[in-house]
Amino acid sequence: MSGTLYLVPTPIGNLEDVSQRIADTLAQADFIAAEDTRVTMKLLNHLGLKKPMAPYHRHSTEASGRAILNRLQDGESCALVTDAGTPAISDPGEELVAQCAALGIPVCAIPGPCALVTALAVSGQPTGRFTFEGFLAMNKKNRQAHLDSLRWEQRTMIFYEAPHKLAATLQDLCSTFGADRPVSLCRELTKLHEEVRRTTLGQAAAYYQENAPRGEFVLVVRGAEKPEELEPSLEDGLVLVDRLRGEGLSLRDAVRQAAKELGLSRNQLYDLALGK
Ligand code: SAM
Repeated sequence: MSGTLYLVPTPIGNLEDVSQRIADTLAQADFIAAEDTRVTMKLLNHLGLKKPMAPYHRHSTEASGRAILNRLQDGESCALVTDAGTPAISDPGEELVAQCAALGIPVCAIPGPCALVTALAVSGQPTGRFTFEGFLAMNKKNRQAHLDSLRWEQRTMIFYEAPHKLAATLQDLCSTFGADRPVSLCRELTKLHEEVRRTTLGQAAAYYQENAPRGEFVLVVRGAEKPEELEPSLEDGLVLVDRLRGEGLSLRDAVRQAAKELGLSRNQLYDLALGK
């Protein structure tokens, strides 16, 4: 019989956030699969645990994943941890869980620290409906496509970002959603210098042009507020057509794609693009 894969969250800053169940699961697993064994060793030392570890990081998920799956199929239990927070959420694990599901290997997720939930809860932004967007892509085209897809999003949006890319990301969010859009910058959560800056995208972008960001950030951006004012217009369609043409699409294809994406009339948009 297969062993179980346990998804074990670890502190995002405060070591006191290890629950009894998290500690027990780490203690009872046959081995621990870790994103960085040196980071996890510090946690195990804090908990007074000694355990065999296996690597599982984003650059070797295939080879190391195969080895973990073999051990699980041989009946061993595995606790998967990452450097901080919940495995499989913008962290290695998603693929391993899918592989376990396909092979009928039991997976058990232990609740615990997660930066996105902690940030959303403290943000002061509406929490009833939200969308987690993770990290924006580095690639310019993918990044722009991601932002374009969110232009009329009404739910609260949550982004992860590394400090050295924060200023550029705030500029891009500002261009997409406008300078007045409220944002909560949740920094160093659960740590000594935890800070929640509730401001606007314009003010945040200006501030971080002048001041180097320090620490880890989650950005919680308010969704579009008044849907009636934000229905895409034919002029918005024209802007998208121009961009798609710049990416090499023919006028006909650009109109078709823009009309579909924005829910506009293809004929009207085509006429406008032709200047009729
Ligand atoms: N799986 C983890 C989780 O869900 O908590 C997230 C891992 S992701 C690689 C790392 C990102 O999480 C950071 O770039 C930052 O955006 C966010 N993060 C992690 N710890 C944080 C903290 N203490 N305060 C604010 N953001 C944090």
